[in-house]
Amino acid sequence: MNKKITIAIDGFSSTGKSTVAKELAKELEYIYVDSGAMYRAVTLFAMQEGFVGTSFFDLGSLLEKLASIQVSFQINTQTSNADMYLNGINVENEIRTLEVSNLVSTVAANSIVRKKLVAIQKEMGKNKGVVMDGRDIGTVVFKDAELKIFMNASADTRAERRYKELKEKGQDVSYEDILKNVVDRDHMDTTRVDSPLVKAEDAIEIDNSNLSRKEQFEMILKLVQDKL
Ligand code: C5P
Repeated sequence: MNKKITIAIDGFSSTGKSTVAKELAKELEYIYVDSGAMYRAVTLFAMQEGFVGTSFFDLGSLLEKLASIQVSFQINTQTSNADMYLNGINVENEIRTLEVSNLVSTVAANSIVRKKLVAIQKEMGKNKGVVMDGRDIGTVVFKDAELKIFMNASADTRAERRYKELKEKGQDVSYEDILKNVVDRDHMDTTRVDSPLVKAEDAIEIDNSNLSRKEQFEMILKLVQDKL
C-alpha cells in the first residue's frame, strides 16, 4: 500500500482550491479539510452575536466567547461532502454568503482566533492522509507537508467563477461586489501580520486561469503520485 502524505493547498480567494482538494481527497481516499470554512463559521458566530458588522468589530466580546465556539465537520450523506457545523448546527449554506465573505478576513486576522483553529487543523491532520486548503497550510499548519501547492488565477477569472457559483445557489449578488470582495480579501489576507497568505518556499505554483478543472486535477494528481 502507498504511504500516506499531507497535501497543503494554499492560494488566493476563489482559485478553485476546494474543488481540486475535494477531488484529490476522493481519488486518494484522504480526509479533506476546508480550513476557510472554520474561519467562516467563527465569523458567522460573531455576526449572529452582533460582535461584527460592516463598520464595527467588538473583538473583546468575541474572544470572551471563543472557548464556547465549537466548529466541526460532518459528512452530508446526500452530497458526500463534509458540511460545517457551528455549535452542533449545520451552517454550510450560511457561511458561504457574501456577507460572511466580506467580514471573514477581519476576524481571521486575529492571532487568538487563528491559534484556536490551527490547533484543531493540526489535530485533524496528525495521521497524514489529508488534503487541506487555506491560506497558511503550507507555511504554518503543516510546514512539513510532502506536497505544497500554491494556486492563483486572475482576479477577473476568480470573480467570474464565484459569481456563477453564488448565482447558481440563488443568491442575489452583483459581479462588481464579488470582484471587490475577492480583491479586498486578497489584500487583507496578504498584508496581515499573523500568518499572511504567502507562497511557501517549497510550494509549487499553479496559475489555473487557462486550465480546465480536469487538466488541473490531472496535473496535481501527477505531482501527488511522484511523492508516493
Ligand atoms: O477559503 P475561503 O475563501 O473560504 O476562506 C475564507 C477566509 O478565511 C479567507 O479569505 C481568509 O481570510 C481566511 N482563511 C485564513 N486561513 C486559512 C483559511 C482561510 O485566514 N487557512
